[in-house]
Amino acid sequence: MAMIEVSNIKKSFGQVEVLKDISFEVNKNEVVAIIGPSGSGKSTMLRSLVHLEKIDGGSIAVEGDYLAKDGVYRSQLETKRVTTKMGMVFQHFNLFPHLTVKQNLELAPKLVKKDLSVGLRKRTDELLAKIGLTSHANAYPANLSGGQKQRVAIARALMMDPDILLFDEPTSALDPELTGEVLQVMKKLAEEHMTMIVVTHEMGFAREVADRVIFMDNGEIVEEGPPSEIFTNPRNERTKAFLMRSL
Ligand code: ADP
Ligand code: MG
Repeated sequence: MAMIEVSNIKKSFGQVEVLKDISFEVNKNEVVAIIGPSGSGKSTMLRSLVHLEKIDGGSIAVEGDYLAKDGVYRSQLETKRVTTKMGMVFQHFNLFPHLTVKQNLELAPKLVKKDLSVGLRKRTDELLAKIGLTSHANAYPANLSGGQKQRVAIARALMMDPDILLFDEPTSALDPELTGEVLQVMKKLAEEHMTMIVVTHEMGFAREVADRVIFMDNGEIVEEGPPSEIFTNPRNERTKAFLMRSL
């Protein structure tokens, strides 16, 4: 069974159809990179997976559990059950500015799982160590660099122990010298076989870390395949033109 199965999803904002019949699957332990020009629908697609946007048609299932089937959503409880299988990391970090690093990490587990146990503290400490920010546990986001903020955002997503992590251009808001430390954390997660969907402009990362690359343009999946094929031998003219501009 696929970790995520997306079938024929459609989404319009007003008259503009932003997602036109998108279908793909992501398997367990797979890293899928999504590339494509600005405005092609990448963010809308990711946001639809975690129910930050509502699709107009089609189906989304996580481990066989439907978020929406043929455009019909389920109860709030069922929706929550599906969306908590996923963690999301945004371009602009979206940390809570009034909370410390540690409080940012522990907020969702406390709210959702009502987990106030020793286990939670242990998990917080482990993840702070994993992102190399143990000494910043009590710092506020304003006192962190962009790279540190994004590492915190990744740890925060991991706190809920998701089965799949979604990244929406996680390094696009960072100064070039700070992208490496974030990509390094993501690479480590990939090596630990975390299932990930990564929308990115970092072609080097996609090439090195992704198992599969999906090229989106104008609300459609134009081409997909292993990085070795997409980057060295793209078949579609739109993929070729995009890569010419990006590489
Ligand atoms: P990408 O992430 O590939 O740059 P987006 O998913 O952000 O693309 O946007 C796809 C299209 O949908 C764009 O034309 C954008 O202007 C439009 N769009 C995105 N969000 C909204 C919204 N909330 N309301 C209206 N139009 C939107
Ligand atoms: Mg986007």
